[in-house]
This record gives sequence, structure tokens and C-alpha cells, in this order.
Amino acid sequence: MESERSPSCSRCAYWAMVRPNEGSCRRHGPCSGTAADPIAHWPHSRGDQWCGEFVAAGGAPLLTGCAECRFWRHTEDGLQPVDRGDRVAAWWGLAGLCCRCAPVPTEDPGPRVYWPATHITDRCGDGDRIARRTTMD
Ligand code: SF4
Repeated sequence: MESERSPSCSRCAYWAMVRPNEGSCRRHGPCSGTAADPIAHWPHSRGDQWCGEFVAAGGAPLLTGCAECRFWRHTEDGLQPVDRGDRVAAWWGLAGLCCRCAPVPTEDPGPRVYWPATHITDRCGDGDRIARRTTMD
């Protein structure tokens, strides 16, 4: 029998609703990769789906945003990528790099690592609060 504690994305602490029965799963942060100027996009799920990492809303305190995460690197001017991808200039102006993940080895020689851009208002369940933010200066 379903209760308020039964797993469902709509009742999960890591789920950010974007419209009724649709939201993004913020359980994990993005990882580094070898493609230039990556942007973090969190997968969407329906509110009636669920997974084994469900935590009832209120049970996992999330940061208010990447701005207070010790893994977020930024400058006052945000980021100026060569390719803005699907984000407008104003979004990049409040973006920084999520540097939570170390690079992983690849099969190809000489890869360069790129950390994904996140917005100051993004957040995830892998974030870790700091008193003073690290900058790229
Ligand atoms: S909260 Fe921290 S770990 Fe999560 S996306 Fe933002 S910078 Fe990355």
C-alpha cells in the first residue's frame, strides 16, 4: 500500500519539479569529460517513477545552489565559452565549473579534461557546503 514514505520521484528530496508530474533528478552531480565546454543537464523523470536512491523529501538537506558548494569554481564574470551551446549569454554570466569529479582514463592518448558548467542556482545531492568559495582567480 502506498504511503507518503513510498518511493516516488515526486516525493524525493533530490527531485526538482518543472511542471506537474515532470522534474529533474538532482541526486548526482555532473562528471568531467573530454568534450570542450560541456553543460550539465540533469535527466528528467516522471513524478510516479522512482529508483533505489530515493530519499523522502526533507530527509536530505540540499544546498541552496552551486554558489555555496566547495566544488564550484567561478569568477565574477562567469564563463565565456567559445560555444554557448543551448544556453544564452546571461546564463553563462552566472555559471561556473563543477569540479567535483577527477578525470578518468580513456582509451585514446593525450586527452584534455573539461569540467561541466553549472548555473549558480543549480544544485545536486553530491554538493558539499563550504564557508568560503574557491574562485578561479
Ligand atoms: S552542488 Fe556542487 S557538486 Fe552539485 S552540481 Fe553544484 S558544484 Fe557540482
